[in-house]
Amino acid sequence: MAKVLPIAQLGAAIIRKISAPVKDIHAEQIQNLIDDLLLTCHNANGMGIAAPQTYHAKRIFIMSSQPNARYPYAPVMEPEVVINPEITWQSDAIEKDWEGCLTLPGLRGLVPRRTKIKVRYTNREKVKVERVYEGFLARIFQHELDHLNGKVFIDRVESTLDIVMEKEFQRMLNEKICHTH
Ligand code: ZN
Repeated sequence: MAKVLPIAQLGAAIIRKISAPVKDIHAEQIQNLIDDLLLTCHNANGMGIAAPQTYHAKRIFIMSSQPNARYPYAPVMEPEVVINPEITWQSDAIEKDWEGCLTLPGLRGLVPRRTKIKVRYTNREKVKVERVYEGFLARIFQHELDHLNGKVFIDRVESTLDIVMEKEFQRMLNEKICHTH
């Protein structure tokens, strides 16, 4: 049975570690970890979660975009299991938009990201996948890939003025002054 995993907070050493590639995707331990990540992501209402956020330094993350109160403009997608990901091409165009993170609860940052990326990864059935992601999904992918390399979103903000607390973010959202689109 899948279990909800504890989420490492900023300051935990694993959040700054470079995670190791997964070689044995069919191993029971890896498949169980994937089930646990899917449940933990769903349980936390996350748009994604990376294995190191749950104290496992493996190159695996979940992307799971669903609109909710924190991300009302998120597109709907089935949760996707991403293993050993690579970005094979990225647009020159960069866009700033708001991000949050289960590892930095209560914080929001205006983060510059590539607007369009081509990616390659392996899924949990060990099938090689190539995709093009744009906009919000490209943003999630880049955010989660950063976790596998020991980076968090506040490392990428251009100014500390681009970091706000969740409560004020919600107020801004309600006043519709935070949208950069
Ligand atoms: Zn995160």
